[in-house]
Amino acid sequence: MTDHSDEPQPPAPSKGISRRTLLVGGSVGVVVVGGAVAAGISFSRGTPPLAVAKTMIVNGAVWTGDLTRTAEAVAIGRDGVILGVGSNEDIGRFKGAGTEIIDAEGGTVMPGIHDAHQHPLSGAEGAAYPSLGDESVTVAELQERLRGFLASTPDMEPDGWLVVVDWNPAGLTDAIAHRDFLDVLETNRPIFLAGSDFHNGWANSAALAAAGVTSTTPDPEGGVIVRDANGPTGLLKDAALWAVRGAAPELTDKQKQDAYRAGFQLAASLGITSFMDAAGGRESVETFQDLRGRGIVHQRVSVAQTIDADTATDPEGALAQIEDARAAVIKDSGVSVRTAKVFLDGVAEFPAQTAAMLDPYLDGDGSPTDHYGEQYVSTDDFTKLATTLDAAGWQIHTHSIGDAAVRTSLDGFQAARKNNGKRDNRHTITHIQFCTESDYPRFAELEVIANMQLQWATPSAFTLDSLQPYIAPHSYARQYPAGALHRAGARLSGGSDWPVDRLNPWNQVRTAVDRTGSTSETGGPLNASESIDLATSLTMHTEGAAYQLFQDGLTGRIEPGLAADIVILNHNLLTSPIASVSDTTVNYTLINGKVIHDPSRRQ
Ligand SMILES: [Zn+2]
Repeated sequence: MTDHSDEPQPPAPSKGISRRTLLVGGSVGVVVVGGAVAAGISFSRGTPPLAVAKTMIVNGAVWTGDLTRTAEAVAIGRDGVILGVGSNEDIGRFKGAGTEIIDAEGGTVMPGIHDAHQHPLSGAEGAAYPSLGDESVTVAELQERLRGFLASTPDMEPDGWLVVVDWNPAGLTDAIAHRDFLDVLETNRPIFLAGSDFHNGWANSAALAAAGVTSTTPDPEGGVIVRDANGPTGLLKDAALWAVRGAAPELTDKQKQDAYRAGFQLAASLGITSFMDAAGGRESVETFQDLRGRGIVHQRVSVAQTIDADTATDPEGALAQIEDARAAVIKDSGVSVRTAKVFLDGVAEFPAQTAAMLDPYLDGDGSPTDHYGEQYVSTDDFTKLATTLDAAGWQIHTHSIGDAAVRTSLDGFQAARKNNGKRDNRHTITHIQFCTESDYPRFAELEVIANMQLQWATPSAFTLDSLQPYIAPHSYARQYPAGALHRAGARLSGGSDWPVDRLNPWNQVRTAVDRTGSTSETGGPLNASESIDLATSLTMHTEGAAYQLFQDGLTGRIEPGLAADIVILNHNLLTSPIASVSDTTVNYTLINGKVIHDPSRRQ
């Protein structure tokens, strides 16, 4: 079924894939009271008329978001707002002429996933490039894969760029990335490997030359051109990688549109009903408004405005830039802008080691080095920036991986509160791979949201080989401290960081609980004491993230009066073994009561 317009729809074919059925009228008498039509109940004198449901979800295990309240059924009005939640019998009172019934068949019915940190445009566009699949490989294996990509695009010789995505910068098993390994390939084409972490890039000599990077090119603000005795090695960190990648031609409009259509349908099929673009600009606001207007994006969209490291030192200039982007927002377009994004540091894994740490990195044999990572914005500059943006009513979302960057965020938010008084700006720190214990209670004290990507909290190439030998053991043991932050009263919200990782919110929900997930390399957990329970994890990915996105009072729970942003799952999450949560299939996704994913669209 692909037509989800508000017009009455014909009954589903009896052997159709869709299990939705349309009941016209009712088997019992139809009562008309004051213009409202209700079937299956009779009104006693004085009972106010009930609205008629456009859609009813029945036979579900409804997780409303309120642990004390369980239910079987949900009624949704014509305006997309939830009319009632209760037993099948209670909700039957809302059935009327034309009410469409969705049978949840015992599966969990819950609020849609709010993905409060992702990079949706690059996530969708990524599908248009050849991918290395984030796999760990040797240099020889990598070269073989690249030869395959080159051979499959012979018309791109002699100088068309080969841009490859999902290179695992922590997964090169027998060497450190160097342009020499790419230069030996039998081509003159510029080659650029985009790290799946979005913090590392790897270019061959032709790509460096095409981007104008030479031995004398200074490091850009917020980035590093890695060098050896012969000049740039081809390994590029943060802003430096974007400078080189930016020299490659963009996708064509047609390639982009196809990629967006596929990418946002994927998000819908996984149950995502709201998301935040965590690093956008004015142009992304316009793109999303266009995509929503054309029915390619159905989700509620927030676009965080990136303030680069250079602009961060000029609070008034930064404010002018983001206010300009906000001015592009069209009322009721479904796109909102009220968040400023600041990258305070990079990533902790070897070889990047750009996360700002309070303790120095280790040399791999347990001895401290003199390297503490890179903090791209100083505490002093961030404090001034935070104070200015907070006073102007902006939410600030800081990328902070290292414990020094987390502390800088908290210090800046504390100063903003001291200067401006308490405001409801819901400042957020994202990632929080490391946080020193004395900072845990500051999240609750300052009402700072901890936005975390807990699918990373598993033993993997990232957390084992390229991290464990280089991080002080006491910090490593408390990595991704979701449990401790929760116990300290912090409000948690979830985000995928797609396409830094594959988009699978259900594996996120699960890994937050068992710290193992579907990809554990050891089969066991990472720092099991930092686990949170399933209800907390579900809340983090629904109501918690909705709060961060200023959608509380609108979505994030299943409650009369809220918008029907609802997913129906193929099993009961709360009674299934935790490991099975990763494999959850979303049968239906509804936004504002409108079905945007149903069984006929399942891949
Ligand atoms: Zn991100």
